[in-house]
Amino acid sequence: MSQPPLIAASYCGRFAPSPTGPLHAGSLVAALASWLDARAHGGRWLLRIEDLDPPRAMPGAGAGAVQTLARLGLEPDAPVLWQSGRHERYAAALARLQSASRVYGCSCSRSDIAAATQPGGGASNVYPGTCRTGALGAVRALRLRIEEDEVSFVDRWHGRIVQDVAGEVGDFLIRRADGLWAYQLAVVVDDAEQGVTDVVRGADLIDNTPRQIVLQRALGLPTPRYLHVPVVTNARGEKLSKQTGAPALDAEAPLAALERAWRHLGFERLGADNLAAFHQHAVEQWRARWAVAPDA
Ligand code: GLU
Repeated sequence: MSQPPLIAASYCGRFAPSPTGPLHAGSLVAALASWLDARAHGGRWLLRIEDLDPPRAMPGAGAGAVQTLARLGLEPDAPVLWQSGRHERYAAALARLQSASRVYGCSCSRSDIAAATQPGGGASNVYPGTCRTGALGAVRALRLRIEEDEVSFVDRWHGRIVQDVAGEVGDFLIRRADGLWAYQLAVVVDDAEQGVTDVVRGADLIDNTPRQIVLQRALGLPTPRYLHVPVVTNARGEKLSKQTGAPALDAEAPLAALERAWRHLGFERLGADNLAAFHQHAVEQWRARWAVAPDA
């Protein structure tokens, strides 16, 4: 017998792939986990295509992802949101940050940053704050001025995560030198505007979360709950991605693909013989392991 939803009124989850290539076994793990968590909480599940980086996009990959997910029975509860249609919303968020004096222009190239961080140890990706008090040359990119040091949050899988954002990342980009919106800004604006209460995604993104929390605070937006699930790696230990040659999901064999993703999430094979049975049993088991109480 299925249990009543726990936090139906408030739960909203999402899956937000970048259309840089076809969906693969790794993307399906994040998609399935976010869908299961939404269904297990009686919540809504949304799909957002993060197509803000035309040079990295593969034509048709966004629409292909929507179709492949539908073949697996993972259908969103609202029309798909495409980030490429939302430049005005990101510009409005930038204007808010600028009026709060949280943004500055930066003229540094990668080699400037490497040169500035080399003394005292190898080059690092931490931005040393060179342009904080005024850009030294023509402004190429925009950065967020970090005011807090440590940011912490409780991840439902990993527990408490603490990051010294100022020391480990530095003032980070919100608009890139190529004029494109940075992922951090777009994801924070969209999660808030879509009413997302729960972000479930791959653990490769966990060290981005403190930056996103910094931006949420700077914009006066709520911080969702987070659950970062294990990433899928290939035989060489690399995260599956287009760059590491991950094969596209076989939408002709939806149950096999779902079973693989399910086992990767730490569960025993379900052995379901149709999609509806797989969904039902997986939601029940996910609820038993991962449901959070309404006031958590
Ligand atoms: N678009 C990002 C990616 O495909 C994920 C964004 C997110 O889930 O926050 O890696």
